[in-house]
Amino acid sequence: MALIVQKYGGTSVGDIQRIRKVAERVVRTYDKGNDVVIILSAMAGVTDELVRLANEASPSPDKRELDVLLSTGEQTTVALLAMILRSMGYNATSLLGFQADIRTDAQACSARILSIGADRIHDLIKKHQIVVVAGFQGHDENGNITTLGRGGSDTSAVAIAAAINADSCEIYTDVDGIYTTDPNLCDKARKLARISYDEMLEMSSLGTKVLQIRSVEFAKKYNVPVHVRSSFNEEEGTMVVNEDAEMERLVVSGVTCNKDEARITLKKVPDQPGISANIFSPLADAKIQVDMIIQNTRTGGETDLTFTVAKGDFKRAAEISRKVAKEIGAVDVLTGDGIAKVSVVGVGMKNHSGVAATMFSALAKENINIRLISTSEIRISCMIEEKYAELAVRVLHSAFGLDSES
Ligand code: ADP
Ligand code: ASP
Ligand code: MG
Repeated sequence: MALIVQKYGGTSVGDIQRIRKVAERVVRTYDKGNDVVIILSAMAGVTDELVRLANEASPSPDKRELDVLLSTGEQTTVALLAMILRSMGYNATSLLGFQADIRTDAQACSARILSIGADRIHDLIKKHQIVVVAGFQGHDENGNITTLGRGGSDTSAVAIAAAINADSCEIYTDVDGIYTTDPNLCDKARKLARISYDEMLEMSSLGTKVLQIRSVEFAKKYNVPVHVRSSFNEEEGTMVVNEDAEMERLVVSGVTCNKDEARITLKKVPDQPGISANIFSPLADAKIQVDMIIQNTRTGGETDLTFTVAKGDFKRAAEISRKVAKEIGAVDVLTGDGIAKVSVVGVGMKNHSGVAATMFSALAKENINIRLISTSEIRISCMIEEKYAELAVRVLHSAFGLDSES
């Protein structure tokens, strides 16, 4: 007998028929004598629709109220699953974030989980209840409802698994595991049997939305093995675990693509000490994360500085940059989207040279221009024009020998 956490994503609970299928799977696990805690997302498309409604209601929706609204998507699915389970003769109780005591900070719309009071979940388990918890939501110290950022149900699941000391944490989704690249973008993508937390962290941070990055941070911190698998079949998926000796030793184990960034360039910035701090401190104060940065030195003591931010922060970042540009005497601010970041990831890169050269040559062969480059110990990213994103992913996948045989 084990304590099992299962999370079902939006497509898996997309309509009543699918929620019934989820109920059948939950019951199969429960009937084997296991204790089960289920975390659910909203039905596919519902959170997007709520965001759309909010933007119709107000040009800049109040974030506290947005959280109240967005959390209703998950409120619907947990109640429906609990009803279905009860109609099948099982004891099931749904819990919203605050009822499961998922405490977060007060950062509306992208709150971080601070603690989980597991008592209520444990009490229900002791009474042999199937516990169904709303993902993506919590409450702050003032009792406000908060949400955890898009894709946040993954984080709810892993954090709850850690808090209740579950034996396993299964993430059920619409693909049957983690692939070398998005299988919906590249038909030669290969399923990985296992992937290390560190590689998965990089992949999630680079746009692989199959797991929200914070869920991987929790999994690594609390050593929770995460099994990503399909809710539509019984196949084994991918284990996200600590790196170990038996892991496939690929130089590059994945290719990712992120179209969610936009670019800002400050032209003719005075080339002197302290200028970068002047530009990036106000952005940091506004809690805007800057991703890639490049500085081109011109002659005559001036430089052009380009950086990227998430599209969601773009408007605010551009406003702040224009203000700073005036203060420091930069000549112009150019902004633009239509860019994509393609990256190759692999722990094997640590001990290999030539990865960057292979990447740049593969892109050059297709005449794809690289605008910005950034690297870490286990990743190389290139910013390119968005229209080449899919082609770049396929070309890199092939160049690093990742293509499946079939
Ligand atoms: P859920 O609604 O179950 O949370 P998501 O849509 O958030 O599902 O994540 C699953 C999606 O992640 C897949 O449909 C797939 O298109 C995408 N994805 C991107 N990169 C990968 C990858 N390397 N492996 C698997 N899926 C990926
Ligand atoms: N429903 C939320 C979203 O669409 C959370 C999730 O699905 O994980 O982002
Ligand atoms: Mg998701």
